[in-house]
Amino acid sequence: MRLDVVTIFPEYLEPLNVSLVGKARARGQLDVRIHDLREWAHDKHNTVDDTPYGGGPGMVMKPEPWGEALDEILASGDGEPVIVVPTPSGVPFTQQLAVELSVKPWLVFTPARYEGIDRRVIEEYGDRLDVREVSIGDYVLAGGEAPVLVMVEAVARLLPGVLGNAASHQDDSFAPGAMADLLEGPVYTKPPEWRGRGIPEVLLSGHHGKIARWRRDEAFRRTDRNRPDLIERADPAAFDKHDRAI
Ligand code: SAM
Repeated sequence: MRLDVVTIFPEYLEPLNVSLVGKARARGQLDVRIHDLREWAHDKHNTVDDTPYGGGPGMVMKPEPWGEALDEILASGDGEPVIVVPTPSGVPFTQQLAVELSVKPWLVFTPARYEGIDRRVIEEYGDRLDVREVSIGDYVLAGGEAPVLVMVEAVARLLPGVLGNAASHQDDSFAPGAMADLLEGPVYTKPPEWRGRGIPEVLLSGHHGKIARWRRDEAFRRTDRNRPDLIERADPAAFDKHDRAI
């Protein structure tokens, strides 16, 4: 998968060199290209922002540098990318969207600063390409670089061969299928006793059926406690009699 990120803070994307994403890059599973938007600004101060039409506080990112940057990046690859525009006013970034993006061959991220990007840029590319305005949560950050790190990591761990154990994301929180979009329940490792606290007996039983049932019950309880909205939204057919009794 190819990933392009256009930003005025290229150094903010340095975490993409470490851990899972860094290793995926080193193995050639991810081709990440970070671009400095200011390279497409032509005045002596490399200006990329201006005052908003209609007045008001803050600055708005100018359309020209974004247009030139995106045109050049689009021309440098085969096919058409999905353009992901981080913005608090976008659709929520969910595991489902991460799964959808993970099968695309090419993503271009446009993290903004100030009050965001001149609307015409989104319209210009939205008329001919798949452009997604995406929010990572109901809060406002100073820029879109942290949201890009979040989205890239969520997408990259779904790529074949990136996680050591391919099955491990299948029972993560929000994973469709067996876990029915529930949150994952508690997990334990050795030692069997720590500061007087043991682990649930069933996990030592070696009985796969009972362990699966326990995991599901714990997932259901945790979801009910922390995110009842997920249970309300889920397809009732995803739950069995046992779930409903909890
Ligand atoms: N005036 C904008 C609003 O109220 O919707 C907020 C702009 S914010 C200060 C600057 C940039 O940070 C945004 O354009 C976007 O790139 C990024 N950003 C901030 N919060 C975000 C969020 N929750 N999800 C995705 N991107 C976000």
